[in-house]
Amino acid sequence: MSTEHQTETPMVEIRNVHKRFGDLEVLKGINLTVNRGKIISVIGPSGSGKSTLLRSVNQLEVIDQGKILLDGVQVNRPDKKGLAFERHINHIRQNMGMVFQHFNLFPHLSTIDNVTLAPRKLKGMDKNVARELGMELLDRVGLAEKAEVFPNWLSGGQKQRVAIARALAMQPKVMLFDEATSALDPELVDEVNRVMRGLAEEHMTMLIVTHEMGFARDVSDWAMFMDGGVVVEEGTPDKLFSDPDQERTRNFLSKHL
Ligand code: ADP
Ligand code: MG
Repeated sequence: MSTEHQTETPMVEIRNVHKRFGDLEVLKGINLTVNRGKIISVIGPSGSGKSTLLRSVNQLEVIDQGKILLDGVQVNRPDKKGLAFERHINHIRQNMGMVFQHFNLFPHLSTIDNVTLAPRKLKGMDKNVARELGMELLDRVGLAEKAEVFPNWLSGGQKQRVAIARALAMQPKVMLFDEATSALDPELVDEVNRVMRGLAEEHMTMLIVTHEMGFARDVSDWAMFMDGGVVVEEGTPDKLFSDPDQERTRNFLSKHL
């Protein structure tokens, strides 16, 4: 397979996705393809449906219409119910790492145990093998020396880096980030962004919702602006951030750049 071909393999496909909460249609037919090794940023005002879109990708939300595929496998399966759906989705989720605004670390587990829990429980990984992998990942996010520390003793930036290491521990095919730095004090943002940049350099496939326009512009291969549940505009970051076609995009950027 040529390299060019590989880079154009769809890893996540979002096709005509609709989602409503009661009368409120939050996603109104979203289409997006994230190719293997690519980084897509999603920007847009609060309430535009960004989190719902990410949550739909790993089925924390069940979509009403459309299709979501991960590496060619359909994620949403309206035909599967109950336990069959649970099994399917647990399997799918092992291939997606998600990092939220709030870190959701297990407070009663040390850093290393937070990182190794999923591979041990879900993949049946041997304790020592998991520990070795966990230490490698903690080292990668610059926190090897915090392995035995409990989350309460960590700063927000450190917690978020542990959350990234934990998501990576399942060796996912794609990483989903939902405003991973927006709850952090400004001085802690960079250490998390650095880790995300490192993943980008290693060609991790990533779908990133962010309010940091500079970061999005720097790291992304493609950027998408959402408003009111639709994709208003998308393009290369250079084009979208410096010369958007749509008035709504210009308006949003004028307030956020
Ligand atoms: P964003 O992440 O862009 O700020 P969200 O996806 O969180 O937007 O929300 C989009 C809209 O959907 C908002 O109006 C929000 O209030 C609504 N919403 C999100 N989750 C739910 C839910 N579980 N029940 C009802 N409404 C929801
Ligand atoms: Mg959100």
